[in-house]
Amino acid sequence: MSKVPYNPVIPHSRPTLGEEEVQAVAEVIRSGHIAQRDVVRKLEQAVAAKVGAPHAVATSSGTAALHLALRVLGVGVGDEVIIPSYVCSALLNAVRYVGAEPIIADIDRRSGNMDPDDASRRISNRTKAAIVPHMFGLPAEMDAFLKLGIPVIEDCAQTIGTTSKGRPVGSLGHLSICSFYATKVLTTGEGGMVISGSAELMEKIRDLNEYDNKNDAIVRHNYKMTDMQAAMGLMQLQRLHRFISRRKEIAEKYRKSLETIVFDLPPNNEEHIYFRFIIDVGKEVDRWIDHMGKENIAVARPVYRPLHILLGLEGYPVTEFAWKSLVSLPIYPSLSDEEIDRIVKVAVSIGRCGR
Ligand SMILES: *Cc1c(COP(=O)(O)O)cnc(C)c1O
Repeated sequence: MSKVPYNPVIPHSRPTLGEEEVQAVAEVIRSGHIAQRDVVRKLEQAVAAKVGAPHAVATSSGTAALHLALRVLGVGVGDEVIIPSYVCSALLNAVRYVGAEPIIADIDRRSGNMDPDDASRRISNRTKAAIVPHMFGLPAEMDAFLKLGIPVIEDCAQTIGTTSKGRPVGSLGHLSICSFYATKVLTTGEGGMVISGSAELMEKIRDLNEYDNKNDAIVRHNYKMTDMQAAMGLMQLQRLHRFISRRKEIAEKYRKSLETIVFDLPPNNEEHIYFRFIIDVGKEVDRWIDHMGKENIAVARPVYRPLHILLGLEGYPVTEFAWKSLVSLPIYPSLSDEEIDRIVKVAVSIGRCGR
């Protein structure tokens, strides 16, 4: 007889997949056309329609999408690109792929998103673009960034299917990118997309993403998504609305039970889709993460290691605070009410330490 674990591990992230995805992917495999054919095109059209933008090109990852976006904006050696510190290193890598210099900006304490004033202070005559992620499910202040007078790449890797001041996220930058990595809001396993209103830029992106049958020797990539992935993505997209309402429901439960430690990114912001639920645990993040781990609940820093720390830079007080005090709890559509109760019980018993 198999042993039933008393306290099964609750992972920090988990994709929400079902029989629909299995069927859709199986159908593509049975068709024999497993690389890129018309299913990818359908996903591109469906995502573009969802965010109200005319053009989209699917890619093999969010990082690949960022790389292509920087290339078509003409960013290269000698140029600077502004990115926030409190984000994964995918942004840093993409900027370096094109030979440009990453300029790191601090975040806003209330939202966790890049601070437009700090970004503005770091603009020079070499600044060619800014990459603005909507972090943790909360749309960034796009208007403020668009006013900076430089091309803005909107990074929707953590936030899709919502609006920013009423306008759909994914349609707000000169170019926008998505990631469909396993544990993002929507998944294709690995995958990404570039979205834009500019037919000209998107035509270039489609060209750079395919190396075959060309008449010149421009450096091109193979960052293409497969129809197997796109079939999964189409099923996920159909469920996006339900995914988001479940995320909001879980956030509401957490907020009510964890009042004293919630790091409330603007309280009750209707446009927040809670890709992450973040709490302020005081000064002993590692101890807090260990405590939860002992109860088989995986929690994590919202960002593994901020970019200014990776690069040995100073002058990022808000990111320092976030890194030293913030923890991200499990939140995903497939998290059950029983699991939420277990998480809340242990989190409340630990409370805030070291402050
Ligand atoms: C995940 C992520 C990326 C990179 O996407 P990949 O598909 O993992 O390459 C870029 N930006 C942000 C904000 C992300 O969260």
